[in-house]
Amino acid sequence: MTNWGSVFLRLFLLGMGGLVIGALYDRPLAGLLIATTAALAWHLAWLYRLDKWLHGKKMEVLPEGSGIWPRVFARIDFLRNRGRRRGRRFKLLLKQLRQATRTFPDAGVILNDRNEIVVFNRAARELLGLKKRDRGLRIENLLRDPAFVAYLRRDDVAAPVEIASPMNSDQWLSCHAVPYGFDQKMLLVRDVTDRRKLEEMRRDFVANASHELRTPLTVIAGYLDALADDKTLDAELKQPVAEMQTQTTRMRQLVDELLRLSELETERAVSKPAAVNIRAVLETARQEVLALPDGPRQVDIVVDSDSDLIGNVRDIQSVVSNLASNAARYTPAEGRITMRWWTDADGAYLSVADTGKGIAKEHLPRLCERFYRVEDGRERVGGRGTGLGLAIVKHALTRHGARLKIESELGKGSVFTCIFPAASIVAIA
Ligand code: ADP
Repeated sequence: MTNWGSVFLRLFLLGMGGLVIGALYDRPLAGLLIATTAALAWHLAWLYRLDKWLHGKKMEVLPEGSGIWPRVFARIDFLRNRGRRRGRRFKLLLKQLRQATRTFPDAGVILNDRNEIVVFNRAARELLGLKKRDRGLRIENLLRDPAFVAYLRRDDVAAPVEIASPMNSDQWLSCHAVPYGFDQKMLLVRDVTDRRKLEEMRRDFVANASHELRTPLTVIAGYLDALADDKTLDAELKQPVAEMQTQTTRMRQLVDELLRLSELETERAVSKPAAVNIRAVLETARQEVLALPDGPRQVDIVVDSDSDLIGNVRDIQSVVSNLASNAARYTPAEGRITMRWWTDADGAYLSVADTGKGIAKEHLPRLCERFYRVEDGRERVGGRGTGLGLAIVKHALTRHGARLKIESELGKGSVFTCIFPAASIVAIA
């Protein structure tokens, strides 16, 4: 630390000396003036040296001595060296970071608030075909896949979107936008072709196996029907044959649903889209529920819209029938089922509400997985469900750009709401 006390003391003594010497010559003020001018000239000389030293090309030797100026030089020299050391470290870090991002197998693209490309890594060149000149361009102009464009426009970008690569249509990319900095996003793109191929193999296997199982099952069911109709059948065989018939029916239902699921998974777009008469769809589901021997007796339909839905009638009917049959299965005969259809500016809604047993919160996120069931094996004995119903519902809805919202409370009942985008609504002709 600079001892400012001694600095001021020296200045004071110099002034006093000037005054005293000036007084000897009857000019005390002139003496003071000369002393202060000398002090000023001395400091100016140091300032000049400092300026030269700061602007010198090569590191010059530090001035020796004590006092304020050598200390200022030493301090500046220390700060300058520290800055240089930090700069070197920062450069090294930047180099390492660049090397690391270069070796990343995933593409990373930083986008600004208008989705314009700010910067990207090497993998982005390979996976997305981005070039230096693409900086500043909007990413939607380069990646035009409608699913990707819709994903970027969405508020909720938590779940990644999968698109075919713009470089190679056999390659599949998973794109995930994460908030970055103040109002930027980091688009992370990963090659998921291998996973898609595995999924495809699984789907094909399930579809082929289900298909192959159909014929033998039909034969078995045929013989069982004939046996059941046989009046000469031993009385003690009647019960086992009836049980075999029930289980064969279940197996056929399972095989049919597995086939339907792989069909839904394979086709990306809605086949044969047309205006679906929702009233008729709801009424069919209502009749199905009322036909069940132990289902709820009160099934209401509430329609609060003058619009119909554009979609595939078979898909929509299977969505509503699955939701209604679930509601019927998990609601006692004295319970009630309410099916609603309404639209607003944001979209269309189709809900199936029941006053049944409800579902505990922890099961809700997994409910649409294949074969996921809340009940354990014992409770299910004799049940009609295959565990595929909600998986079919979810896939059929996804194809329509819709999603399923599930609300439920144990012991009170459940509400399953299908939410369709506004583009799917059409006024009733
Ligand atoms: P399942 O054929 O077993 O009904 P789903 O995929 O249709 O299979 O349903 C999965 C699970 O979700 C069911 O096993 C059941 O536990 C639960 N669930 C579905 N709908 C309802 C509902 N309306 N009320 C209570 N639980 C339900």
